Amino acid sequence: MSQEHAVLPAWVIADPFEFARRGSILSGTVEFESMPRFMGELASPQGQVQAEVRGSVVDGECYLEISLEAEPTVVCQRCLKPQQLNLALDARLLLVAPGQPMPDDELEDDSFDPVLADRNLDMLAIIEDELLLGLPISPRHDVCDTPQPRERDDSESPFAALANLRGAGKKR
Ligand SMILES: [Zn+2]
Repeated sequence: MSQEHAVLPAWVIADPFEFARRGSILSGTVEFESMPRFMGELASPQGQVQAEVRGSVVDGECYLEISLEAEPTVVCQRCLKPQQLNLALDARLLLVAPGQPMPDDELEDDSFDPVLADRNLDMLAIIEDELLLGLPISPRHDVCDTPQPRERDDSESPFAALANLRGAGKKR
């Protein structure tokens, strides 16, 4: 992939259709700090997203496949303590040329989203949109880290009891 427009920011695709036809790949990291809308949802601005954009053509249609991995820290809505999420997101964008009708959302299948593919397509804004969509609406720990009273010691746990049973069986 040649980079003819060196003045363009790294996450701008000069010609999205050409990018798709060539099967080009754009990958790298984006600091959360360069995505103000996403950062506003986080408990901490620290961190980055690992992003990859791949061009592809399927049945004559041009697509951008996006893969994102990030571990943003949000606020648990139950205990209000920080919670680190493991986001692994995949999105598929159908490129729609300027002047062409956007596919009707109602009729569209869910496997891709149409995007108006103008020249100098700003992937950073799209990556930020996908991250925002990927955040849980009301994030909660699976188990909140509140002190739990210790009810019984290990020798009384079901596993210890099972081990004792097995041991007893072997002795016979
Ligand atoms: Zn919690």
